Amino acid sequence: MCGIFGYLGSKNSIKACLTGLKLLEYRGYDSAGIAAIKKGRLIQFKASGKIKALEKKINMKDLKLNLAIGHTRWATHGPAIEKNAHPHLDEKNSVAIVHNGIIENYNILKKSFKLKQTKFRSETDSEVIAQLFSINYKNDLVLATIETLKQLKGSLAIVAIHKDHPNEIIAAKRESPLAIGYDDKKTEFIISSDPNAFSGRNLNVIFLKNDEIAHIKNGDITVIDLKNNKILKTPQKLNSKNLTFSKKGFDHYLLKEIFDQPITVQKAFIDRLTENDEIEFENFNLDKKFLKSIDNIIITACGTSYHASLIAKTFLQEKAKIFISSEIASEMRFKNLIFTKNTLVIAISQSGETADTVAALKTAKENNAKTLAIVNVQNSTISRMCDSSIFLKAGLEVSVCSTKAFSSQITVLYLFAIYLARLKNMKKKESTSFLNELKTIPRKIKKTLKDFDLIHEKAKKYSQYENFFFLGRNLMYPTAMEAALKLKEISYLNANAYPAGEMKHGPLALIDSKLIVIAFCANKKTYDKMLSNLMEAKARNAQILAFATKKSYGIEDIADDVIWLEETSDELAIFPSTVASQLFAYFIAKIRKTDIDHPRNLAKTVTVE
Ligand code: GLU
Repeated sequence: MCGIFGYLGSKNSIKACLTGLKLLEYRGYDSAGIAAIKKGRLIQFKASGKIKALEKKINMKDLKLNLAIGHTRWATHGPAIEKNAHPHLDEKNSVAIVHNGIIENYNILKKSFKLKQTKFRSETDSEVIAQLFSINYKNDLVLATIETLKQLKGSLAIVAIHKDHPNEIIAAKRESPLAIGYDDKKTEFIISSDPNAFSGRNLNVIFLKNDEIAHIKNGDITVIDLKNNKILKTPQKLNSKNLTFSKKGFDHYLLKEIFDQPITVQKAFIDRLTENDEIEFENFNLDKKFLKSIDNIIITACGTSYHASLIAKTFLQEKAKIFISSEIASEMRFKNLIFTKNTLVIAISQSGETADTVAALKTAKENNAKTLAIVNVQNSTISRMCDSSIFLKAGLEVSVCSTKAFSSQITVLYLFAIYLARLKNMKKKESTSFLNELKTIPRKIKKTLKDFDLIHEKAKKYSQYENFFFLGRNLMYPTAMEAALKLKEISYLNANAYPAGEMKHGPLALIDSKLIVIAFCANKKTYDKMLSNLMEAKARNAQILAFATKKSYGIEDIADDVIWLEETSDELAIFPSTVASQLFAYFIAKIRKTDIDHPRNLAKTVTVE
């Protein structure tokens, strides 16, 4: 799940790698490393932890080199210690590789005849690539790569350098993404897991396909397949935006991004609504005839995006009257789902790189389904794979814990639901009143954010507890799931989400005075039932913190504390409830002094399955 960066060109390669790796750190921050060639020998720098730790170890003096490869790791095989940091070298120190993915047959290979005498230095699966490459190398980098790829199983993006080829880089891909950019004069070649790390550069970019190998040599790039046939690639001109990171005066990116939401939610709908409240998506390629004929929608996603999919599912089904299922992406391809001739698969991902979602999309394509991406990052793998994309326009989300992407996903999905429902039969009047209310949401989020100090006070009270149950019914259940995930991710507390009505079927046994119930009560349809469920918990001594709208009656008699929210329709209650619960999780994490923007064991983008 790492970030890979390689540089060959006229500038300082190690500096270029450090800059590139910082832009890829969202893909993992367990350890980092860089390798280069100096006077015919491979040199390397490694550090556990973030890129900053690696930077401290590198003395730039005497390091004006033209070629380097770098890696920021999210450990899959072997702990996050320095010896497991990439790049990995072979036994003879002749080749260095960086790898993103998982080599599924690494153990078999290690014990194989070819490698059983080899001394491995790390506990990673990746090192096997360097050792195999070295054995397969007979003075030809491309042939060695082809041979090595044939022996490897699993997912990989690899970049390799060899001490005897100081002006050459090899890159190869199978499942994990890899982009290669170069300037018009071909004085610089940059390889990256994500083209956004070409920040601020205007480059010609090619994206490698599965089992393609790129060989950069003598100011040129050749792409070859596993049969050593040349492949003609047409580069795209990509003028990537300068990625600038700023907390804008907030203590953490997370808090900044929570506060971004009145604007980001607005951005997700404002330019897509005409004066007459018609909905128009930019560069939308799904034709209306197909959209009208859709009889089945499968929404697939992971983590926070999956929670967005659950909300969208209920709304879409109700409005467009289509059968909808929401599938956890990592499970989808192991199920025999039903694809009709008119199935649409919607893939949701903030980064557009989530490996599980990419795999789920492949299943969709194998079944000839039409595909729609709802992603934040343009040019991302998922947006390139799908027939059409709707972008979140939420801006860069830096904090690993997703906040503003979630509210933008819901906004975009709601818009799409109305768009589709109108094509199907929805009355304009019904949809207009919904859209009018949607327009009030940015203001309502702003009001929620004003309760900053009050939510902080409540967080102080509850931060000393270890176990939480997040309860909700109807749309407040996925809201509770998302809120519990926030608390887990950044506070490392045990937070379970449950449909409130299900508590009596088992989990009620867990309730005692040390268990905190966080109740999401902003759903009118289920409010009375929710109160009864909370009474059942209270009767067993649970302490209750409720998130409820200002017009709710009776909740203050049951709950120990209430965070009062703006009144909305049931469909839109997700917004104030979510923003308030994001602040609550943020303050608990802050009180507990965790690494809020980079929680342990996680990465922003999950690029392994
Ligand atoms: N499987 C490799 C490792 O654990 C690479 C993981 C990654 O893609 O970051 O080192």
